[in-house]
Amino acid sequence: METTKTTSASFISTRNACKLCAPLGASVVFKGIRGCIPMIHGSQGCATYIRRYMISHYKEPVDIASSNFSEETTIFGGNKNFNQGIDNIIQQYNPEVIGISSACLSETIGEDISGLIHEYRCVNTDKPLPFLIHASTPSYQGTHIDGFHEAVVATVAAFATEEKVGNHLNIFPGFISPEDIRHLKDILTDFKLDYVLFPDYSDTLDNPHWSEYQLIPEGGTSPEDLKRIGSAYASLEFGYVLNKGSLQGRVKNNKMVFTAGKWLEKNFDVPCNSIGIPIGINETDKFFSKLEEISGETTPIYYQRERGRLIDAYVDGHKYLFGKRAIVYGEEDLVIGIVSFLEEIGIETILVASGGESGMLQDEITRTTNGNRKDLLVMKGMDFESINDMVDVLKPDLMIGNSKGYYIARRLGIPLIRVGFPIHDRFGGQRIQHIGYKGTQQLFDRIINALIEFKQEHSPVGYKYI
Ligand code: SF4
Repeated sequence: METTKTTSASFISTRNACKLCAPLGASVVFKGIRGCIPMIHGSQGCATYIRRYMISHYKEPVDIASSNFSEETTIFGGNKNFNQGIDNIIQQYNPEVIGISSACLSETIGEDISGLIHEYRCVNTDKPLPFLIHASTPSYQGTHIDGFHEAVVATVAAFATEEKVGNHLNIFPGFISPEDIRHLKDILTDFKLDYVLFPDYSDTLDNPHWSEYQLIPEGGTSPEDLKRIGSAYASLEFGYVLNKGSLQGRVKNNKMVFTAGKWLEKNFDVPCNSIGIPIGINETDKFFSKLEEISGETTPIYYQRERGRLIDAYVDGHKYLFGKRAIVYGEEDLVIGIVSFLEEIGIETILVASGGESGMLQDEITRTTNGNRKDLLVMKGMDFESINDMVDVLKPDLMIGNSKGYYIARRLGIPLIRVGFPIHDRFGGQRIQHIGYKGTQQLFDRIINALIEFKQEHSPVGYKYI
């Protein structure tokens, strides 16, 4: 039964797209490998744009190398620049890994990057080389999330070995914040689990203070751990959409696309468990019960009490939230998680918008809302100007998404609750918590306080109690 209305914003030109570039997502993943330098095979401007976005959000120095395409390279191919680029990176950084993603230009001219890597290895047999990984990331075929998951699969496929070295859980949490990753690691440790979490940019993109500049920041999933990823007893991945959508053209070409967990299941017999991003009580309960099943441990009392406090807060805060109307936008798996949470707390989602075009969003939102939201609009392939055109009719009370939607919230004079990536206009985007009972509690408090503040600021009476 179709209960939500879904449509696609199929514009010839996009105005302020509700998505980012695919190599950006891949670069975030490569920053989550220890000793790794991301490299863009393409024009300098692509690397500059990606660096600018990541530095602004994470407030950290971010080095992204580029093979620096020119007119000549575009016509005759980029192998010379590629080889020179790899040489320079090795000389300047001495990295353990170089993560190469392909920009639109190199994809358009059909660069055979796997071939270039093979050639480079063949002519450089006289010295130890770093691992060279390639993720194919044409932005015209997908979003930053497609690029992110493509890089996760490419890395897993490059490192996984047949050798049985360990007995642990793999966890692929997707594009969450560094603070979320730290929280996740605490939870896994409290369940006494041996695990390999990938990608882990909790330190590399949110460093402690350094007394001396580090060319490659400490932290990240180690190559040793990545090599044992094929001998795990199970994988757990967050996300219902992941990269099952457009990047490899699965739907168009009837080609099978694997998520990292599914790839390991097929190639290494590692059972894959997929759950949503654990935002809200329902999805977090699923996560904790999966951990109980995998570890054989009961949920530690600490987390049971976090859950109890969250339910108490839901009861206390209901009167401020019930019936409020929200617009939610951003990455598909993130918006699915947020909508699931809003359903629990009595906020009515009236528009879900994403730049993603997996073709799965409508079904997932309908499932998440149990088909109860008859007037909920689900828009794929969206841009912010289209959201802006729709909001006057929809009359939302609040918006939830990244900072790119701020100008719409400002025009409407309504609160914007910042989640996800990028957060360019606030401090601490890398430390926003979204997941688990704790992250949900923080999100819940932020939403309520934004609405209380809005009411207070617009009241003719300067009241001091609520
Ligand atoms: S040209 Fe393509 S790869 Fe480069 S910044 Fe633009 S979208 Fe990203």
